[in-house]
Amino acid sequence: MSQPDYTITQLISAKSIAARIEELAQEIQEQFKGTDKLIVVGLLRGSFVFIADLVRELNLPVEVDFLEASSYGDGTESSKEVRILKDLRGEISGRDVLVVEDIVDTGFTLSHVVNLLSTRNPKNIKTIALLDKPSRREVEIKATWTGFEIPDEFVVGYGIDYAQRNRNLPFIGCVEFNTKS
Ligand code: 5GP
Ligand code: MG
Repeated sequence: MSQPDYTITQLISAKSIAARIEELAQEIQEQFKGTDKLIVVGLLRGSFVFIADLVRELNLPVEVDFLEASSYGDGTESSKEVRILKDLRGEISGRDVLVVEDIVDTGFTLSHVVNLLSTRNPKNIKTIALLDKPSRREVEIKATWTGFEIPDEFVVGYGIDYAQRNRNLPFIGCVEFNTKS
């Protein structure tokens, strides 16, 4: 099946992302100063580039684990039912946990994941989202740290896909579908 024709317009440059990650890492380091029990949990697949850049800015002992929750499939609309497709490998009981998400949109995914992980007796759960679309929120949740607030646009790049493509773009861009007349 061929995809609809679309173009991508840059919204956030690679340079701006890198600068913001440096700031966020400073705040995270301050928050978790002195801990030797931090586990950074990336939500697959969209957060893989973000988590890679973020942990390399953290001057702290960290462990990394991944969890995959179902989301958009190959479309551009979120589904309210969140399923866990791949669970963590490690235990988080008694640990400081930092959940790393690419985008908070309706809020269903992040709130489901936080609720689930809270049942496992972590010492503390904090969250970070690279992008936030506050105008789309249906569940009341705000990440502890947010990279950028963005308008209600469908975005790709920096790990984030459209139908599995464009994750390798170094910047965040908006997808515009070309309507043929
Ligand atoms: P929520 O559960 O908050 O509605 O959706 C969160 C998930 O939807 C994100 O983890 C992300 O995977 C996906 N998502 C939300 N907005 C976008 C977007 O603009 N582009 C892409 N590719 N995925 C999005
Ligand atoms: Mg996601």
